[in-house]
Amino acid sequence: MNNTFSDIKGKLVVITGGAGVLGKSLCTAFAACGANLAIVDLNAENAQKMAEELVSEFQVQAIGVSANVLDRASLVEAKGTINEALGSIDILVNGAGGNHPKATTAVEQMVEDELEGTFFDLDVKGFDFVFDLNFKGTLLPTMIFAQDMIGADRQGVVLNISSMNAFKPLTKIPAYSAAKAAINNFTEWLATHLAPQNVRVNSLAPGFFITDQNRFLVTNQDGSFTERGQKIVNGTPMGKFGSPDDIQGTALYLCSDIASFVTGVCIPVDGGYNCFSGV
Ligand code: NAD
Repeated sequence: MNNTFSDIKGKLVVITGGAGVLGKSLCTAFAACGANLAIVDLNAENAQKMAEELVSEFQVQAIGVSANVLDRASLVEAKGTINEALGSIDILVNGAGGNHPKATTAVEQMVEDELEGTFFDLDVKGFDFVFDLNFKGTLLPTMIFAQDMIGADRQGVVLNISSMNAFKPLTKIPAYSAAKAAINNFTEWLATHLAPQNVRVNSLAPGFFITDQNRFLVTNQDGSFTERGQKIVNGTPMGKFGSPDDIQGTALYLCSDIASFVTGVCIPVDGGYNCFSGV
C-alpha cells in the first residue's frame, strides 16, 4: 500500500481559481508533494506571482495562466498553453467560485409583506452570474481540461469544490446554494460516466473560512463577527472558522492513488458543521 502522497509527485495539476485563498492553500499542498502546477485564474497577475513563489520554494514547475472559467475559448487557449509548457493534465481541481452581493437577499426570512430585499426583489442577472460561476464554471473547465485524462493508457482525477450550502442552503444566498447542490449531483453523475475511463470525480465541501467572497457577510468593519458570523461559529461543534490549510489533507487524499477506489463522494471539511443539528 502507498501510505504517502508520493504518487502525486511529477503529476500535472490544474487548479482553477488557484490564485484565491483556498486555491493558494491547495497549490502549496500539491507543490509540497512535488506536483507541477498550472494556476488558471481571471487574475493572471496573482496566478503568475503564485507560480513564481511555488517554483522558488518547492523547485517544481508552475505557471500562471489567464482564463475565464465561463469562456470556452479562453479555456481551450489555456489548455494549449499548459500542454505546451508542462505536458498532459493528470489532476483538475475546480476551485473558481464564489458568491456576490447581487445574488444575496437582504433579509434571512420574509417576516413583513414588504418585497424589497427579499426573494421577490432578487436581481436575476445577479442570480445567473453566481449560479453560472459556481456550476458552469466547473462544468466547462472539466469538459476542456479532463480530455487529457481520456485514453487507454491514461487515468485522471477531478476534484470539485463544493460547500456546506450543497447539503443545507444557508439563508440569503439561494443562487450559490443551488449551484453547489448542483455540483454535488454533477460530481456523482460524472463519476459514473467516466469510471470506465479510470477517471475519478469527487468533491470536497469546505465549511466556513473567512475570505474575500464572504467577509462582508460574516465580519464587521472592526473585525468583530456579524450576527451571521457568530451564528456560524455557534453552529460549528469545533467552535471556530476553518483555516485554509485545513482542506489540504482531504484534497491530497482524494487526488492521490490512496483513494484509488473512491469516486462520486463529497467530503465535508467543516469542523462538524454538517453533522450538528443545532441543538
Ligand atoms: P477566493 O475569492 O479567494 O478565490 C476565488 C478565485 O477564483 C480568485 O482568485 C478569482 O480571481 C478566481 N475567479 C473568480 N471568477 C473566475 C472566473 N470566472 N474564471 C477564473 N477564475 C475566477 O475564494 P475562495 O474562498 O478561495 O473559494 C474557492 C472555492 O471554495 C470557491 O468555489 C468557493 O465557492 C469555495 N468555498 C469557499 C468557502 C469559504 O469559506 N471561503 C466555503 C465553501 C466553499
